[in-house]
Amino acid sequence: MSIELNARIPEGPIERKWERAKFEMKLVNPANKRKHSVIVVGSGLAGASAAATMSELGYRVKCFCFQDSPRRAHSIAAQGGINAAKNYQNDGDSVFRLFYDTVKGGDFRAREANVYRLAEISVQIIDQAVAQGVPFAREYGGLLDNRSFGGAQVSRTFYARGQTGQQLLLGAYQALEKEINAGGVTMFPRTEMLDLVVVDGRARGIITRNLVTGAVESHAADAVVLASGGYGNVFFLSTNAKGSNCTAIWRAHKRGAAFANPCYTQIHPTCIPVSGDHQSKLTLMSESLRNDGRVWVPKQKGDQRPPNQIPVEERDYYLERRYPSFGNLVPRDVASRNAKEQCDSGHGVGPGGYGVYLDFRDAISRLGEARIRERYGNLFEMYQRITDEDPYHVPMRIYPAVHYTMGGLWVDYNLMSTIPGLHVIGEANFSDHGANRLGASALMQGLADGYFVIPLTIGNYLAQGGLTPVTEEHPAFAVARAGVEARTARLLATRGSRTVDSFHRELGQLMWNKCGMARTAEGLREALDEIPRLREQYWRDVNVPGSGDSLNQSLEKAGRVADHFELAELMCRDALHREESCGGHFRVEHQTPDGEALRDDEAFAYVAAWEHRGDDAEPVLHREPLAFEQVHLTQRSYK
Ligand SMILES: Cc1cc2nc3c(=O)[nH]c(=O)nc-3n(C[C@H](O)[C@H](O)[C@H](O)COP(=O)(O)OP(=O)(O)OC[C@H]3O[C@@H](n4cnc5c(N)ncnc54)[C@H](O)[C@@H]3O)c2cc1C
Repeated sequence: MSIELNARIPEGPIERKWERAKFEMKLVNPANKRKHSVIVVGSGLAGASAAATMSELGYRVKCFCFQDSPRRAHSIAAQGGINAAKNYQNDGDSVFRLFYDTVKGGDFRAREANVYRLAEISVQIIDQAVAQGVPFAREYGGLLDNRSFGGAQVSRTFYARGQTGQQLLLGAYQALEKEINAGGVTMFPRTEMLDLVVVDGRARGIITRNLVTGAVESHAADAVVLASGGYGNVFFLSTNAKGSNCTAIWRAHKRGAAFANPCYTQIHPTCIPVSGDHQSKLTLMSESLRNDGRVWVPKQKGDQRPPNQIPVEERDYYLERRYPSFGNLVPRDVASRNAKEQCDSGHGVGPGGYGVYLDFRDAISRLGEARIRERYGNLFEMYQRITDEDPYHVPMRIYPAVHYTMGGLWVDYNLMSTIPGLHVIGEANFSDHGANRLGASALMQGLADGYFVIPLTIGNYLAQGGLTPVTEEHPAFAVARAGVEARTARLLATRGSRTVDSFHRELGQLMWNKCGMARTAEGLREALDEIPRLREQYWRDVNVPGSGDSLNQSLEKAGRVADHFELAELMCRDALHREESCGGHFRVEHQTPDGEALRDDEAFAYVAAWEHRGDDAEPVLHREPLAFEQVHLTQRSYK
């Protein structure tokens, strides 16, 4: 199959494009919607909102997740907030400003038309969530409150204490449950998609494995929507839920969906530092904390004094010093790189020197402990439980960690991949964040995609017709099922000497060292040598205990890690080919004299979309050029 990248961006001025697209879309009349079936893989914010809304419109929806309940999707972990251009603060915000901040924040590597639509829809999301009863924080007078996130000089982040994702997911989950009860959605928890079925060049179904009984099953539909989240766990240690993985999108990639910008990974600056080799998970301290917390390191290298004994004049509030306009609220890529620089040059604090302080002393003396507790109480408690240090009295220690993946399956303006009928939403697609996502914009994108975009664009696809009847009896399902069964059997049969986790940890370490916060051509080449070797060893020596006909979490992990190996290689290949620095992709060879990311717009102002050509063939690079008509390409500055 040869790939064609047609972004299908509507004609006309940017502020009219979505309106125009909606008007020009083909519609499915209400009676005919009942005749169409749609599969949604994922029940996080993107999947749950999409499944519920499509069912409400009348489509017959099957929704899948690997957790025991849709409510356990990784989205529940989101803490800090969700952006919207409501301008409730009257501080100069607008749809255009949110659009501008997002394009600039993404280091000019996102598609303008999609980002503008996202900013436009952001205002509807808040209304939708409030109508559902999502308990956003309110000001004393009863109006919705806002705080600031990195990369913005306005306050546009709506929040529900430190549990914004959880509260939004409860809203989407209620909507989903209502539709399950009404019979429009059939929910398949504890069920993992292990392959995509393509018939006559269109996505027509999936192969799943029941994680409790081991049964491998086929599901046919008229269209498939992947909302399976991000792949940060390629790095083993990340802030993602342990279960988050790339399998759904990777399997679709191998069936023909182009994978865009796989190397764009977000490293979040405020995580609890790694404490030892035993660790399998990292904990985020929400970006919202940078509203009130001040980041600093001791001016003197190797200063071992307790932080409260270091006088103010001996502290370097390096973000405030280097970026006076944005201060502690510079975007994540900038804050992370600066923290790394401080630690690499000997100013880091805590065990091993891999930490910087996030200090609330000034905010507490200005606002009082009670106010800080009100804003961040659950985050402080979480920090204290993990570190046994009280952040009300001792500054937090933080260090960057893998957090989010801007890369994902390539989609057009309608959120359709390069396989007709296969749509991709939420973190699983590559769409709106360019090379660096701004804080509080993932929830916004997932819900924009799920509540407002896909319910319309799916209709546009279905209304164009040409779908022949396909059932689970079609031979393509039997072939894909046989592939899934053979792979599962192979993993179980190996009975090698090493655990899945030990391989995953080794892969993650390699990726962190060679394709993490700083990347070099030499390191990436080494990784491209080492990953295939490690992968080959994996298939020879992995030990998956137990059987395939009952709950077996080692087996679940084994399949996901096998896919992580393949994706890791593509990430390094993408990072090596992109001879520039942009956002979270920092190639050491390409930096400004003061250490900022140095883009090469002449050569690299494009989306890199990779085509899979078989396990033994090199992937092929396709380019979608990015045109900037509204926002001028400039060297990003937060000074
Ligand atoms: C700790 C943390 C805090 C965050 N805080 C914020 C924040 O404050 N604001 C913000 O905007 N963003 C935040 N983010 C990012 C944001 O939470 C995620 O990007 C977003 O929730 C992703 O939503 P999603 O619906 O795309 O995917 P997810 O919520 O990850 O859901 C994925 C779904 O897909 C299912 N699935 C996956 N693979 C398969 C498969 N093969 N078969 C069947 N089902 C499958 C899963 O079961 C799950 O239901 C945070 C992220 C982290 C890690």
